[in-house]
Amino acid sequence: MTSITDPVIALKGIGKETADHLGDMGIYTIEDLIWTFPYRHEDYRLKDLATTPHNEKVTIEARVESVPSVLYLGKNKSRIQVTVLAGRHLVKVVFFNQNYLKTKLTPGTIVTVSGKWDRGRQVINGTSIKFGPKTDNADFEPVYSLKGSIHQNKFRKYMRQALDVIGGDMDETLPKHLLEQYQLLPILDALEGVHFPKDANQAKQARRRFVYEELLHFQLRIQSLRKARKENEKGIAIAYDLQKVRQFIQRIPFELTNAQKRVVNEICKDLKEPHRMNRLLQGDVGSGKTIVAAICLYAAVTAGYQGALMAPTEILAEQHAKSLQSLFEPIGVKIALLSGSTKTKERRLLLEQLQNGEINILIGTHALIQPDVIFSNLGFVITDEQHRFGVEQRRILRDKGMNPDVLFMTATPIPRTLAITAFGEMDVSIIDELPAGRKEIETHWLKKEQLNAVISKMELEIRQGRQAYVICPLIEESEKLDVQNAVEVYEQLATIFNGRYNVGLMHGRLLSEEKDEVMRAFTEGKIDVLVSTTVVEVGVNVPNATFMAIYDADRFGLSQLHQLRGRVGRGQHQSYCILLADPKTDEGKERMLSMTQTNDGFKLAEKDLELRGPGDFFGKKQSGLPDFKMADLVHDYRTLEVARQDAAKLIYDEQFWQDAEYRYLREMLEESGVLTGERID
Ligand code: ADP
Ligand code: MG
Repeated sequence: MTSITDPVIALKGIGKETADHLGDMGIYTIEDLIWTFPYRHEDYRLKDLATTPHNEKVTIEARVESVPSVLYLGKNKSRIQVTVLAGRHLVKVVFFNQNYLKTKLTPGTIVTVSGKWDRGRQVINGTSIKFGPKTDNADFEPVYSLKGSIHQNKFRKYMRQALDVIGGDMDETLPKHLLEQYQLLPILDALEGVHFPKDANQAKQARRRFVYEELLHFQLRIQSLRKARKENEKGIAIAYDLQKVRQFIQRIPFELTNAQKRVVNEICKDLKEPHRMNRLLQGDVGSGKTIVAAICLYAAVTAGYQGALMAPTEILAEQHAKSLQSLFEPIGVKIALLSGSTKTKERRLLLEQLQNGEINILIGTHALIQPDVIFSNLGFVITDEQHRFGVEQRRILRDKGMNPDVLFMTATPIPRTLAITAFGEMDVSIIDELPAGRKEIETHWLKKEQLNAVISKMELEIRQGRQAYVICPLIEESEKLDVQNAVEVYEQLATIFNGRYNVGLMHGRLLSEEKDEVMRAFTEGKIDVLVSTTVVEVGVNVPNATFMAIYDADRFGLSQLHQLRGRVGRGQHQSYCILLADPKTDEGKERMLSMTQTNDGFKLAEKDLELRGPGDFFGKKQSGLPDFKMADLVHDYRTLEVARQDAAKLIYDEQFWQDAEYRYLREMLEESGVLTGERID
């Protein structure tokens, strides 16, 4: 009796060689085989030619009406054509290089033909032919992603056999109550339906089950990690002084938005708890994350702890230091800025004051968690923009005898689906509201030939004392071309403005001191127009800049365009963003239109995800997303949410760790290593 754990060689027709080929695809046992899902199905449902659009795939059942004609086109090349009657349609069927068909296609023969329908010429360009009427059960044929010399047809046969031999000999992998709750197909039916569906509905139901199962596995792993963190990783319970925090909030010259109030509460609650905070704070550009950071840092200070704020660049660190200074100085909270350019003497003093606790809040770049930076009592670390605080940094802090609460702030709105996927082990707070009275940035999409109009408008702004950014095209493959572009645009504008205005240039090939110098000159108003590649930093705040032109804007993703656009609209003046683009694809046009229609970063992020898919969303390099077999984060986000809730409930349920019906899920967790802590983050 063949069992599911047997090697594939136990199947008929599989010898050593085929078994090796399957092994190359990671398929060793019959079980491995049946969990290898097709990536699509060939649709062989019969179609009516009258309603089939041009160039669409069709399958028809037809009778041969003519003697086939063969045209020889050279060595081993031929074209065979025959007239057939399909329903009421007399059409031609053409095959290439299959002249053996000549003797078989005798008039009166019934055939089932699939191919591409050329509606104008009334010809089917055949891809497959079977003799006789179409059999039942052959509506869908699975197509697998195969390697090496294994052909689809052979593979299908192995699969058919595998499913037949396991018969009833397979345990259900999902607990009964979940199958019932969501009316999911039982495992055997689902396997049958995913490989050899009888109809479209069975295929759909099978997919639905496996999508849920896959996302449940994924979420169980994530939720287990999270649970383990909360239970095992001792953090600091920061008993802040609520009264003082309230007073601090009173002193802020504006009223917090409701969203700001909500996230302050979420973060402070975490501070108070004894487990270590690991939280992501998302808020669109300008949503006011800095003040939230300030309040929470202050809370830590009132409990006698030190706080740290880490920014990705010196400029940003300086900016933060400046704005926090004005809030904290009057109430006697001591802030210090530590960066690469801090002078040796000053640095020595600073480190001393940090170590003896005189400094309450330290702001800086990554440099502030370097080995010789010693805090007396660090309780809370905030990292701003794009910084994922890695395992390594956490180790450094732990080695210093600290396990502070950590908050990550990002202005990149991440669609909720991706947030709970990529950052699933983190808690997420979202500021989804902008302070009242903000002027919307006016965004226009122009053709590249309208560049002159753009320059006139830019000049108008500059003449009123404003400043402008010009962002150069993005060339993903080549930083060199990026730079070249920027230099060209820079020279062009410098010629046009001919000394009337100062034009600055910023690109990735500059040294970081040079970049800082350019940014500083722009911040201080010494540069009127800043030509830049995308290196112009996220978070840079020059409220006097009111104009941005983006060359070849269609080369950017929506989220990136939104980030760039967020450099303007930061002051009291009306701001403008001009997209210069001649997109060739519909998708590109849609992106440009979306930009002109909304300033809402979350909406754009959702749109971006929809248009480009999750892989492109985070950029090619580090998506941080798992590879799903069945699930698709764009379309299955509701299921993801459901699976997340179920997983969170399950792992806190005693039954889950004991009952037989959860055995398979527990085994999956054990194998993944999340339970033994082999995987941290
Ligand atoms: P971001 O979230 O992009 O870091 P910031 O924290 O830099 O945004 O805030 C942008 C501007 O909005 C700052 O000048 C800040 O003082 C101001 N701001 C923040 N919150 C409010 C509010 N509730 N009402 C009015 N202005 C606010
Ligand atoms: Mg900010």
